[in-house]
Amino acid sequence: HLSQRLATVADYIPQGSRLADIGTDHAYLPVNLLKRGIITGGVAGEVVRGPFENAQREIAREGFSDQLTARLANGLRAIEPTDQIDTVAIAGMGGALITQILTQDFDRLAGVRRLVLQPNVGAMQVRQFLMTHGFQLQAEQILSEDGHIYEVLVADRSDHPQTYTEEQLRFGPYLLAAPNAAFVTKWRHEAQRTREVLQQVQAAKTVPTEKVAALQAELAQIEEVLE
Ligand code: SAM
Repeated sequence: HLSQRLATVADYIPQGSRLADIGTDHAYLPVNLLKRGIITGGVAGEVVRGPFENAQREIAREGFSDQLTARLANGLRAIEPTDQIDTVAIAGMGGALITQILTQDFDRLAGVRRLVLQPNVGAMQVRQFLMTHGFQLQAEQILSEDGHIYEVLVADRSDHPQTYTEEQLRFGPYLLAAPNAAFVTKWRHEAQRTREVLQQVQAAKTVPTEKVAALQAELAQIEEVLE
């Protein structure tokens, strides 16, 4: 069975969809979704040979080689037009890498209506990408598992994505509206980290004042949200 993290990603894959799971490693997510009859098929993409072979092996072992194709490719280049992919999942990476993958071959998302993204860090950058590339956030989850905190962002194609404030982009509009225990834990930790960085840069006296001011503003915003 899936980790709580991947189960949360799976919760947002539409019934009957064709999925590309980019950075699939063992292909646990698409195999699980096929077993449960949620997806009809798709692609499991990997850029590194070892994980690609893990995916191939798992798909064959579970008897899904006809429905699910493992591809050794960088990011969205795993997606071909004939795959008829309508949903893309990218999980277990940093927000910067997820954003880079989505940006560098954006045209491969032509038929894609939904993105389910699980950044380990850097969710703000992912929200910024979605807002500026025609995807409307539909749902967000934050959860704690094995001492780590994970965010899951769900977005659908839209001609007019909502414009979010810096605060909404940082904390997540849905998470901010209904903060749970994992949200509070994450942002208490971030506040502490920011305080420590501020102490260091102030002691160093070589950091530009704008950079210090930006950190102070960020800390003030976190403290305000936690109140
Ligand atoms: N998605 C799985 C999960 O959430 O459990 C595996 C996450 S694993 C930490 C990240 C995987 O992404 C690695 O197997 C890595 O090789 C792959 N990866 C990193 N950059 C990639 C890229 N540009 N294209 C495809 N896969 C990539």
